[in-house]
Amino acid sequence: MRTVTLPSGHVVPVLGQGTWHLGEEPRRRADELAALRLGIELGMTLIDTAEMYLGAEDLVREAIAGQRDRCFVIDKVVPNHATRSGTIAACEASLRRLDTEWIDLYLLHWRGAVELEPTLEAFAELMATGKIRAWGVSNFDVADLLDLVGLTDQVPATDEVLYNLAHRGIEWDLVPWCRRRGIPVIAYSPFEEGTLLRHPALRAVAARHAATPAQIALAWVLRHPDVITIPKASSRAHVRENHAALELHLTPEDLAELDRAFAPPRRKVPLDVL
Ligand code: NAP
Repeated sequence: MRTVTLPSGHVVPVLGQGTWHLGEEPRRRADELAALRLGIELGMTLIDTAEMYLGAEDLVREAIAGQRDRCFVIDKVVPNHATRSGTIAACEASLRRLDTEWIDLYLLHWRGAVELEPTLEAFAELMATGKIRAWGVSNFDVADLLDLVGLTDQVPATDEVLYNLAHRGIEWDLVPWCRRRGIPVIAYSPFEEGTLLRHPALRAVAARHAATPAQIALAWVLRHPDVITIPKASSRAHVRENHAALELHLTPEDLAELDRAFAPPRRKVPLDVL
């Protein structure tokens, strides 16, 4: 598995697993658990969850049980909990649901009404007590990142943002800004929650590679050396298919065809959010 190194020094796989909407339906639970476990077995050991994803942390607890050290668990605090004491309480509640002693990377889910300083103070305290091993942010545009780095002498381990063929705005400024500082970006919703996969351009490129549109969508995001992605899959078949995308290499012709169908940004585009 190709890896990237976070500013915190942690080495993580470029292909992980998302968990939004997993663990919500009891009748699908066994399949979802098997899918997450297969992903871990295949090296997709970076698992993205959040206190907001109802039921997902419980499923992650089961998936990582007995193999905690192999896994890199990302969790997130919602902005309305992100006061100093609220962040610590939210983290401790997530630790209990995950039945783990630490979260590998703890993110502010998006920027809300609470000032950033108390959240940063809470992150520092959680780091000092070993409850989290790195901290970062999600859904921060460049202006938010500038505010953030003005408040601390540390850099966030990541910015987790919406990035797929249909939302390319971050190529203009956010990816280069993070790259200059050695901060890998985590691309969420690489399939636009599945709706991207019916697009004719993706299908055409997929046909040339005897691949699937999902694999092309992942290979496209992973063409950057320092971008991680976290597709969500509920079945073992989808996990296997997504993992196999690591073997795909898009040609300049493929990339040009995708650029014609999904134009790259030519100016600043405000960060899109799902
Ligand atoms: P996504 O990963 O873009 O798409 C998920 C959809 O794609 C599901 O319907 C899934 O179906 C389908 N799929 C997965 N593999 C497939 C394959 N090989 N072929 C065909 N369809 C496939 O959407 P997402 O869940 O929004 O994003 C991924 C993760 O990013 C989330 O789970 C979450 O962890 C994270 N996220 C973070 C934020 C944030 O604010 N930080 C926001 C959104 C998402 P099945 O379920 O049937 O496999």
